[in-house]
Amino acid sequence: MLPGIKTTKNYNVNSFSVYLQSMSKATTENTLQAIISHAKEYGFVFPSSEIYDGLSAVYDYGPYGAQLKKNIRDYWWNSMTQMNENIVGIDAAIFMHPTTWKASGHVDSFSDPLIDNKDSKKRYRVDHLIEAHAEKLIEKGAQAEAIQLLADMEALLGKDDFEGLKKLIETNKIVCSVSGTGNWTEIRQFNLMFSTELGSVAEDANTIYLRPETAQGIFVNFLNVQKTARMKIPFGIAQTGKAFRNEIVARQFIFRMREFEQMEMQFFIKPGTQKEWYEYWKNERMQWHLSLGIASDKYRFHDHVKLAHYADAALDIEYEFPFGFKEVEGIHSRTDFDLSRHQEFSKKKMQYFDTEVNQHYIPYVIETSIGLDRMFLLILSNSYEEETIVKEDGTSDSRVVLHLPAKIAPNKLAILPLTKKDGLPELAKELMSDCKKSFHCFYEEKDAIGKRYRRQDAIGTPFCVTVDHQTKEDGTVTIRHRDSMLQERIAMNKVKELVLAHIN
Ligand code: ATP
Repeated sequence: MLPGIKTTKNYNVNSFSVYLQSMSKATTENTLQAIISHAKEYGFVFPSSEIYDGLSAVYDYGPYGAQLKKNIRDYWWNSMTQMNENIVGIDAAIFMHPTTWKASGHVDSFSDPLIDNKDSKKRYRVDHLIEAHAEKLIEKGAQAEAIQLLADMEALLGKDDFEGLKKLIETNKIVCSVSGTGNWTEIRQFNLMFSTELGSVAEDANTIYLRPETAQGIFVNFLNVQKTARMKIPFGIAQTGKAFRNEIVARQFIFRMREFEQMEMQFFIKPGTQKEWYEYWKNERMQWHLSLGIASDKYRFHDHVKLAHYADAALDIEYEFPFGFKEVEGIHSRTDFDLSRHQEFSKKKMQYFDTEVNQHYIPYVIETSIGLDRMFLLILSNSYEEETIVKEDGTSDSRVVLHLPAKIAPNKLAILPLTKKDGLPELAKELMSDCKKSFHCFYEEKDAIGKRYRRQDAIGTPFCVTVDHQTKEDGTVTIRHRDSMLQERIAMNKVKELVLAHIN
């Protein structure tokens, strides 16, 4: 059991009011803006092809961002493939045979309803348009009306009732934020898959898709993996990699991107055992999040009421981002839908022979699927703090600090000689060459020590070591802890041990 983690269904009064409490709008937007600026200024995330004014909803990761992203990915990968003997990893290609996406249902039903405003030509995802209106109602104090609106929307979306949704928009007098008019087109479905062509000669070219999820690469390799790694049910296959979705409206920085990375694990089980494994993975995944030191009240479960075509149970793990509680990970009980469909479309048997019961069957699947970029934003949001420091003499100072968990911070240790002379750099470099074999270190001689500390705080380095004149005399250094800013004197040859104790 996971004490302290709330569960919500779709929009009911309780869940919605929790959502609203988190939405004091001006402050939340400022916080997100501050995080975006900080991420750019300190080399975490840049807009893609910025010199050409960027590309909507596509981002590049800078030096500290790429390292932080890799550390999150490794932390997930190890928690799956190293900590579980019955989970193995694969790395499937982004391009897949086009029939894959017919079998998976993506060609027919991977779409969102959209609507255009005829005056401004601005395009909206219908659910986002209605949700934004509900938020405005709340700001005006019309909470009951907002809840009713969202409940009606859920019901109509569940039935794919586009006429009903359009009426709902009209009767609520929902207008475009640009033109201010309610002059809407009909609602249409918009497929989110990007397509391209394989083959150099136009006539021979085949339309193929950039994968919208990594999961299908696992399903089509189910038997290859099971046989070559000699896996016995229950077992899992994990994969991380890029996915692409032509999101209608991309919002909130790296929360919703058109090119992003997923970390997915498909766990193959005996039919009939899906309920217990669903509960198992729900708990395991939440424990993984909490193991990063994030407070449990920042999380909640959101049970799906409307299930995807492949699922018999599903939930989202939601985190309280600066713009409210939003999905970071999905846990889905996918039945035997995917393997059965691939069997049907490929005409290849997707069955497993269970020696314990002497039976062939198509396994059921529990999926855990988390967005790496969303997890990155979660970590940034959770770590970012603009702190005011009151000094002993009563004056105050401020710093921006990233309280990154030490085990995933890009740099673990900054090594700072107090001056550039008197043999201090030589001593500091000795420490550097010893420690860098074990973890990422950063070396810097320039600027006053206080300034150097602030720069390390801003990129989330958990420890700074200062090598000074006393080091020459007694072999000790000052180690400074990022969060408490406490400084202690320890033997230089104990530094590596201390840092390793914190990051492992
Ligand atoms: P949403 O409802 O936010 O569109 P989803 O339910 O479609 O997400 P899934 O298909 O379950 O998402 O994908 C699994 C995970 O992949 C999500 O929990 C999220 O972390 C991540 N993800 C999905 N779409 C995007 C995106 N456009 N940008 C970044 N991450 C994404």
